[in-house]
Amino acid sequence: MAYDYDVAVVGLGPAGMAVSIMASAMDLKVIAVEAHKIGGECMNVGCIPSKALLRAAAARHVLGELPKFGMTAQPPPPVQDLFARIQQHLDFIGSQKTRAMFAKVELVLGEGAARFEDAHTLQAGTRRFTARRIFLCTGTRPAIPPIPGIEQIAVLTNENMFALEAVPESLLVIGSGAIACEMAQGFARLGARVTMVMRGEGLLWREDPEGSALLTRTFEAEGIRVLTRRQMERVEADGNAVVLHTREDGPLRAARLLSATGRRMDFQALQLDRAGVAATEKGITVNARLQTSRRHIYACGDCNGHAQLSHAAMHQGMIALINSMTPWPFRRDFRAFPVPWTIFTEPAFSQVGAREEELKKRGTRYEVITVRYEDYGAAIAENLGPGFLRALVSPLGRVYGMTIVGHVSGELINEWTTIIQNRIRLHQVLFQMHSFPTMGFLSKRIAETWMMRRMKSAPLRRMAAAMYRLMP
Ligand SMILES: Cc1cc2nc3c(=O)[nH]c(=O)nc-3n(C[C@H](O)[C@H](O)[C@H](O)COP(=O)(O)OP(=O)(O)OC[C@H]3O[C@@H](n4cnc5c(N)ncnc54)[C@H](O)[C@@H]3O)c2cc1C
Repeated sequence: MAYDYDVAVVGLGPAGMAVSIMASAMDLKVIAVEAHKIGGECMNVGCIPSKALLRAAAARHVLGELPKFGMTAQPPPPVQDLFARIQQHLDFIGSQKTRAMFAKVELVLGEGAARFEDAHTLQAGTRRFTARRIFLCTGTRPAIPPIPGIEQIAVLTNENMFALEAVPESLLVIGSGAIACEMAQGFARLGARVTMVMRGEGLLWREDPEGSALLTRTFEAEGIRVLTRRQMERVEADGNAVVLHTREDGPLRAARLLSATGRRMDFQALQLDRAGVAATEKGITVNARLQTSRRHIYACGDCNGHAQLSHAAMHQGMIALINSMTPWPFRRDFRAFPVPWTIFTEPAFSQVGAREEELKKRGTRYEVITVRYEDYGAAIAENLGPGFLRALVSPLGRVYGMTIVGHVSGELINEWTTIIQNRIRLHQVLFQMHSFPTMGFLSKRIAETWMMRRMKSAPLRRMAAAMYRLMP
């Protein structure tokens, strides 16, 4: 059968962009439908604006930190047109930078959401077309927790918070995960009185407990109230304020309430049933090759519920496209790649590979090697602490997992992703030079610490000494 296009992409976030740009570079005939803006959540209401907000917040915060550098602290300045500036940057990137990448892609923008007519036919507004293969890259939406009364108030989520006119004077943040932590610290540093309320045991409570405790201490020192294990009974508007009633604290009042409690799937517009594509509330069901229940339809990025990170979405887009053009033995299992992640708070929290719980459950033998920023001269002199790197390592120096909490941990974690993905052992890291005095040098310290532990073995020490004396 002849199709109008080789490739149809639905959704132009990181996953859809990767598929469209790569496929068009391979001279395939590509059409891509985006219901809102190119760049998806990541570019428009996620990673990029949130990091811009955090950068501005850090600039304002550092004025109070100046005494650490032998200078007089400065009063924090008022925040003027921060949100307008963020929007200007996003408009510039969208119109001047991103658009050019789609020179060879037929774009369907502003025609509304795409929907299936059948397994090879899509419709978006007035456009109707067929494609040999279809890549669904439709992302997720913010989940709003089912607290009675919440539908009556103007809740902030990532979809509207970067279009605020001003920093609210006070903010309730519901949630304990990445977005809740980043935005709580960001808004607090921009001058809002922030209270975080969560049902769970603490910030990032499933992650390294020392990292979570360090983050909590930092937040509290910066004036953020962190209320854990709270039962949220109802929420209501009171004049210009929002009041959240918890069983433990009674009414908590703030100018605005930000919900950052996770993501939900929304496939209503797509009409997946017309194409016979299976999905659950966890996402579109995919196999290891990213194929859905219809083998010519792939689902990449957040919409399949696997990683929910931009770089994972881009990676999946690449893997799905490669799988669609290679025969069986060469197809890739997208789950085989370690997924690093970073939460861009200060200290930044990064992780890749296995966690301790998983290793314990699997009965894997491992040792823990920790190196602290507080023990590194460069970090002390430059006021970059506190922080730590914690590796989970096999007796033979294979790295299972790494957690890094502290300054630029998001940069450091990439080296450990290479190490884990390529099964590089710690003795090889030991023999690799690291530029000094960078924070990356601490990665080498992990390898040195591991080697020093080996040298605690008396037979090994005796053997090394004997060899030394034997040498002429
Ligand atoms: C505040 C915030 C901060 C974040 N920070 C980070 C970070 O620092 N690092 C990181 O890795 N991740 C971060 N994320 C997560 C990241 O944004 C997502 O993982 C990423 O955007 C997922 O990419 P995607 O391509 O799967 O989908 P999306 O980026 O969600 O894009 C999906 C696109 O599909 C479109 N669409 C949906 N349905 C249809 C349809 N039927 N027809 C046409 N178009 C449709 C949507 O309009 C959207 O543009 C953050 C998220 C938030 C909310």
